[in-house]
Amino acid sequence: MAEKILMKTPLVEMDGDEMTRIIWKMIKDILLNPYIDLKTEYYDLGLENRDKTNDQVTFDSAYATQKYGVAVKCATITPNAARVDEYHLKEMWKSPNGTIRAILDGTVFRTPIVVKGITPFIPTWKKPITIARHAYGDVYKNTEMQVGSDCKAELVVTGKDGRETRQLIHEFKTPGIIQGLHNIDASIASFARACFNFALDQKQDLWFATKDTISKKYDHRFKDIFQEIYDAEYKEKFEAAGIEYFYTLIDDAVARVVRSEGGYIWACKNYDGDVMSDMVATAFGSLAMMTSVLVSPSGIYEYEAAHGTVQRHYYKHLKGEKTSTNSMATLFAWSGALRKRGELDGLDELVDFADKLEQASIQTIEDGVMTGDLYALSTLENKTSVDTETFLREINERLQKLLQK
Ligand code: NAP
Ligand code: MG
Repeated sequence: MAEKILMKTPLVEMDGDEMTRIIWKMIKDILLNPYIDLKTEYYDLGLENRDKTNDQVTFDSAYATQKYGVAVKCATITPNAARVDEYHLKEMWKSPNGTIRAILDGTVFRTPIVVKGITPFIPTWKKPITIARHAYGDVYKNTEMQVGSDCKAELVVTGKDGRETRQLIHEFKTPGIIQGLHNIDASIASFARACFNFALDQKQDLWFATKDTISKKYDHRFKDIFQEIYDAEYKEKFEAAGIEYFYTLIDDAVARVVRSEGGYIWACKNYDGDVMSDMVATAFGSLAMMTSVLVSPSGIYEYEAAHGTVQRHYYKHLKGEKTSTNSMATLFAWSGALRKRGELDGLDELVDFADKLEQASIQTIEDGVMTGDLYALSTLENKTSVDTETFLREINERLQKLLQK
């Protein structure tokens, strides 16, 4: 057996909950520990430990990510009332992803893993489409009201000196509804920089779209901030990398996306990203094949699967039944983090390992060996549905061969 790959800087490892926590350990045992002298700073974000530490562990893991620059995260439970009972929680702790995103000021990029046999519902799509969603403001931080008849609604801005600026929204003769939205220049600028950096990182074009022809102040501000930052900070780098920044109207963008081959990053305002990420994920086939990375404007990366803790499978697992849970997105979170760590530390061997791990897992599915969710979708003629652990062992067989070459 060849010597294990040594690491320089630790990865921040954020463990999680339920079925994904089981998969997490299997991936490490079967596919990582035999090959890498894994150096991680471990944070247990499992719900029990979050409760025990009053959620301090989530904050600490985010601070560690700021320090080391790369993290890999397992899916975690966001508690609701049912979870408070199930785990006898002291409090309904906030979403760990929300906490981490706020500390890192990051943007989430979601990319599907494309394999032969899982055909996108849009047949022209040959390459993945990555969606970047701005995660602040707009309708997600709105103020809204129902109003009665015979009233006047206005926008009022009060300055520090008490001076008011007013604009009429509508004179209501009959009942209706109103809504106030906001965003912040700094948040839009962070979003823009995260997108430009990620496009350079991936060497892919960046698309951005709003409805600036209709929303001449609000949406137009997004367009202007992107363009100003692009011209001042990224134009030359994009040209050197041979990639493009492309702005268009949101409806034109949707039409172009459907006709495209894929292979670019699509930056979306908050609502567009919410809607379009579900459309893109579904059209590419399976939530279990969707990877996700949180990127901060200063170039910090946190990798994870886009799906949750797969609760239904976990309860089956607890009853001692075999599950067929797809580990691809969690596996790609690990390979993404290892590759980035390798790039930052100049460890070619680690980068190469990450590439081969992804290659082996894609090969496994393309050889017809897959978990139940993909089995139901795959158009391959010779296919077998395997359980969670068998799938990882099948990947390992192919990985060994690739590493011997
Ligand atoms: P989920 O865990 O994504 O699972 C929903 C369903 O999708 C599953 O029941 C399963 O369908 C299918 N699925 C998802 N991932 C799969 C995989 N890897 N392999 C095979 N099938 C997969 O969503 P959820 O059940 O709504 O949420 C469970 C918990 O996850 C919640 O407590 C939620 O708070 C948390 N969550 C966490 C994150 C995160 O940490 N990023 C994100 C979302 C949700 P079948 O049952 O039909 O097989
Ligand atoms: Mg959505």
